[in-house]
Amino acid sequence: MGPVTRIRLEGVTKTYGAVKAVDNVSLEIRDGELFTILGPSGCGKTTTLRMIAGFEVPDEGKIYFDDEDVTFLKPYLRNTAMVFQNYALWPHMTVFENVAYGLKIRKKQLKLSDEEIEKRVKEALRLVKLEGMEDRYPLQLSGGQQQRVALARALVVQPKVLLLDEPLSNLDAKLRIEMREEIKRIQKSLGITAVYVTHDQLEAMSISDRIAIMDKGKVLQYGTPREVYFRPTNLFTAEFLGRSNIFRGRIVEKQDSYLVVRVEDLDIDLKATPIQPDLTGEVALVIRPESFKVEQSSQEDNIVRGRVDFAMFLGDRTEVRIKVGKSSLIAYLPNNFYPEIGSELALGVSWRNVIALPYK
Ligand code: ATP
Repeated sequence: MGPVTRIRLEGVTKTYGAVKAVDNVSLEIRDGELFTILGPSGCGKTTTLRMIAGFEVPDEGKIYFDDEDVTFLKPYLRNTAMVFQNYALWPHMTVFENVAYGLKIRKKQLKLSDEEIEKRVKEALRLVKLEGMEDRYPLQLSGGQQQRVALARALVVQPKVLLLDEPLSNLDAKLRIEMREEIKRIQKSLGITAVYVTHDQLEAMSISDRIAIMDKGKVLQYGTPREVYFRPTNLFTAEFLGRSNIFRGRIVEKQDSYLVVRVEDLDIDLKATPIQPDLTGEVALVIRPESFKVEQSSQEDNIVRGRVDFAMFLGDRTEVRIKVGKSSLIAYLPNNFYPEIGSELALGVSWRNVIALPYK
């Protein structure tokens, strides 16, 4: 098949016995983007990825690569390559042989000479910065290097779509951050469309052009990292991505650009930004801890007064919990600020940073 760039899922559903692993999922993945499916364990991410690869067939719905319906197309005809969490390298083969394998089995079909295979393997190894490691065996490599081999092996066949299933989960924290950058660099330099599966929200935000948030088989929201972080449209996203203060409230006034919401637990009214125009009655308010300011400067600010319950110096910030009314909230404040426990504190928070969602 020809060059594949765009992927479209339309109402895709997959059931295993009584479990709806993927429930009516529709997504559009654009040319050359790194698209991440993010969600907790068991939410259906891997199943979605496996249906894109063709390892699983949906019970309902369609999958398109560009305008071609590939729902029932065999995996090896899809021009995709997958990188797995556990690398899945062959231990008895050298790095070179591992990477060359996919080309060797297709040697006749692709009309490749040994020289061409060698050239392409070397190129792939250069791309993942493993030149000179051709003769090593997987067990002689670090975890990060093994993952690079797995990446080279996927890329050497020049797939049009790269699928990555939790590729960094087995690496330590420092290496994970390094490999995030690497994967993004390689993906962008090849301009290849990539679908990335992870349960790690920081990984998703740092690496992705766009993120789909999945829970219980459903895609709840998708957008750029900034969109889903700053404008969560549902409580699950607000809680799963980053940290949120969440309060229940009742709309008491509607202005053109903001709402006034009565929050009984805090015993205050807060100005808030509605996530959709038709909100009425009960709402949930979401406030990120970093949205609070020690100084209140502008007219836009809500003022929240409370008593410091707890303060923790965390190096890059001071985390403070203040008791307000019957409840409390967490604020991330500058690291040069350290309030006394029990002292009174007034914090500002712009209504632009108080998001009102439907309460469910
Ligand atoms: P994890 O991060 O733990 O891999 P996931 O989000 O990738 O989770 P899936 O592996 O897609 O989730 O699984 C979604 C649901 O479908 C789970 O409840 C899982 O137990 C179930 N499931 C997945 N594959 C099968 C299968 N082959 N047979 C039966 N149930 C399955």
